[in-house]
Amino acid sequence: MLTCEERDTWSQFLEYIKKRCSSTAFDNWIAPIKVLECTAESVRLEVPNIFVKAYLLDNYRKELSYFIPVDENGEPQIEFVISDTTIKKPLTPTPRITVPPEPQVQAPGYEIKLNQFYKFDTFIEGPTNQFVKSAAVGIATRPGRSYNPLFIHGGVGLGKTHLLHGISHYVLENHKKLRIQCITTEAFINDLVDSLRNKTVDKMKKFYRTLDILLVDDIQFLQNRLNFEEEFCNTFESLINQNKQIVISSDKPPGQLKLSERMVARMEWGLVAHIGMPDLETRVAILQHKAEQRELKISNNVAFFIAEHIYSNVRQLEGAINRLSAHCRLLDQELTEELAEKILSELFQHAPKQRVSAENILKSVATVFQVRVSDLKGTSRTKEIALPRQVAMYLAKEMINESLMMIAASFGKTHSTILHASKTIENKIKKDESLRRQVALCRRNIDA
Ligand code: ADP
Ligand code: MG
Repeated sequence: MLTCEERDTWSQFLEYIKKRCSSTAFDNWIAPIKVLECTAESVRLEVPNIFVKAYLLDNYRKELSYFIPVDENGEPQIEFVISDTTIKKPLTPTPRITVPPEPQVQAPGYEIKLNQFYKFDTFIEGPTNQFVKSAAVGIATRPGRSYNPLFIHGGVGLGKTHLLHGISHYVLENHKKLRIQCITTEAFINDLVDSLRNKTVDKMKKFYRTLDILLVDDIQFLQNRLNFEEEFCNTFESLINQNKQIVISSDKPPGQLKLSERMVARMEWGLVAHIGMPDLETRVAILQHKAEQRELKISNNVAFFIAEHIYSNVRQLEGAINRLSAHCRLLDQELTEELAEKILSELFQHAPKQRVSAENILKSVATVFQVRVSDLKGTSRTKEIALPRQVAMYLAKEMINESLMMIAASFGKTHSTILHASKTIENKIKKDESLRRQVALCRRNIDA
């Protein structure tokens, strides 16, 4: 691994970059960066503002890792100090960067913090999020004139924040005169607390109540915060009464939130849309898109393999690509299924062992292989039945937390038949890609 013992590491980086970017870009973005400290573990840089930091990491992450110490994930170890004199808070170095940064852009006039990667064109659509995405696009193109409020709910890491920021980016670019705020519920509460402390509540109320579009992320954090709920509800009503657009996200539908009836009713006024986990094909498309962004070559087989094992959170799919890309880049290895399995094993999801029954396995296998459960339980030796029957026994051995004798009894077989079936399938799926997918599908379709 590279170290940074020599003080001229940074000058070497500058020389390298100078040859590869325009002189204007170099003068505007790179030249203003100052090296404050350089150790074997990390580099401390002073940048004039957050944009320079984002520019550097967005454009030269890979190149930085050639010159600057990196961590085990291949991430350059840089501490940034912002030297911008307009920042009022005392200057403290930002924490060491170990995850991909989330650069933020700011609209002039009032503060709106958006992740620059969360735009409509980077949001991959599939059957479980198409509806909510088109509702979001509808709102961004005609704010206040389609669904109001739009309430988006769904589990963690499924793209709610991405869509809220997508709407905000679109509005900032296409409706420049509209006043928009996109804020987390926590930040809204913090704003309120600050304004109470500073006796500027009126100013805050005025700010929020004169917006054209208000987007509030993670409204579940308003639960059990009675005073804040009331203020939020007043803001909400005031905006809706003026036909101003409101978009809310939550991990649950309105009716399941512990909020006042008044608040729940208001949130149900417009369109309540669910965002679900993308199906297998969409997950593969997301993986391929994220891999492309990171210049990682990923074959269809590997993408399917990962997508079959990570199925409840898009953020984890992203994490998988980050890990693989760092690993392949550092060790200069080709990305194979075995490598993916090795590196991602702890991210992979497996159905819990103890709650699965033989009956559920048989049902799932019967559905996937399009045979009857009674045939699987029967004695027919035709290939169409024998193979799925072996798959069921293989899955039972893998997933049921019982002795082999008990499993064998529930299938009406001997324990050596179960062992044999299990071994046979284990060998077959190593060679037969389509069988492996079918088995993965059975595994996933089993209702606990
Ligand atoms: P949530 O707010 O629902 O918890 P996020 O919007 O933060 O989830 O999404 C988690 C990560 O997954 C983000 O990096 C986001 O860009 C990515 N993501 C989620 N859904 C999609 C999608 N359909 N296409 C591309 N990226 C997605
Ligand atoms: Mg979120």
